[in-house]
Amino acid sequence: MITLNNNFLRLQKNYLFVDIAKRVEQYKKENPQASIIRLGIGDVTRPLAPAVIQALHAAVDEQAEAGTFRGYGPEQGYEFLRQAIVDNVFKPRGVEIDVDEVFINDGAKSDTGNFGDILGGCNTVLITDPVYPVYIDTNVMAGRAGTFGEGRWDRITYAPCTAENNFTPSLPTGEAPDMIYLCYPNNPTGTVLCREELQKWVDYALENGSLILYDAAYAAYIRHDDIPRSIYEIPGAKRCAVEFHSYSKTAGFTGLRCGFTVVPNEVCAMSAEGEMVQLNPLWNRRQCTKFNGTPYIVQRAAAAIYTPEGKRQVQDTIDYYMENARIMREALTERGLQVFGGEDAPYIWFRVPEGQTSWGYWEELLHKYNIVSTPGVGFGPSGEGYIRLTAFGSREDCVEAMRRLK
Ligand code: PLP
Repeated sequence: MITLNNNFLRLQKNYLFVDIAKRVEQYKKENPQASIIRLGIGDVTRPLAPAVIQALHAAVDEQAEAGTFRGYGPEQGYEFLRQAIVDNVFKPRGVEIDVDEVFINDGAKSDTGNFGDILGGCNTVLITDPVYPVYIDTNVMAGRAGTFGEGRWDRITYAPCTAENNFTPSLPTGEAPDMIYLCYPNNPTGTVLCREELQKWVDYALENGSLILYDAAYAAYIRHDDIPRSIYEIPGAKRCAVEFHSYSKTAGFTGLRCGFTVVPNEVCAMSAEGEMVQLNPLWNRRQCTKFNGTPYIVQRAAAAIYTPEGKRQVQDTIDYYMENARIMREALTERGLQVFGGEDAPYIWFRVPEGQTSWGYWEELLHKYNIVSTPGVGFGPSGEGYIRLTAFGSREDCVEAMRRLK
């Protein structure tokens, strides 16, 4: 009889966005005249940059001619994009990355999840809390999470990030976790980690033989020059970290789908025989077996963001969203709320008024002001008492929502 991977039955139902949609629908039914503004879901709203559109058109035309047609591409991605990443993302920050260490993918969600394929099923895991849920669920699927009870998995270490510790996770004090997920700029809190704090994690991983899985999906939103855009700006990180990037929020590719993962040649993990084995060739093998590459036209589109006009246009869109973030920060602060994030990230995270819960205040925002947000508790136990707003809406919606709140 065919049997299941029973770990899938252990997954907790993630009702967050379904639950939000249901409550909003219900409210709309009861209040059909309400003009609802959605600042909840983290999808972008601005169109792709003209340079990206041009590159897409040109690549489509290439596919129409036998002489320039492309079929299967390299599983790791085309050299033109991998080289552009090395030259434009890492070199300007003083980071030496080899082209062979860059793997193009169809977005960061896939690889943050898939990377566990090449890591041992018994590894222990640390996440920061609140967290992007993919890190947890993919480890539940792999059987690394243990048992769920009272809002937590017993084999996962939760590093709380709240206003009390300035959203700076503490190093674990007990047995060292094998896999450490860090995401900066952070979704959902919109906060960042300074160089010194990140150095502590790198030193800890090196001392304890842990692997850091660093999600830099929002790196393009960092404005303060002293905040690292990549973990590889930190000495030692190339020996203990893999890094995930995404074009989704960087350049509006949430629908187009492209990103990349960096697996430095120095990063190793121990085999069952006690040998240290490089992860780069294993990841390459995994990709060549299970992935047939990102579409050529999409990789051409991604490469266009590194042209001078592409860079300018993409930056204009990021500036647009970050101006939304500034407007929201200012309005919420004026309202007397304690506001975090939104300076180096497109997310605003604020504390709900004293005595309220995430869901309670979420309801108030919907019923009183017709604003859809996301309750912080949906991202983990330490998110209770907070609300997340995204800066990815239109300027008009953002200004109108803040006018209502003021
Ligand atoms: N990582 C984080 C922290 C995210 O918030 C998201 C998307 O919301 C992703 C990864 C997924 O990005 P992609 O669209 O490239 O799959």
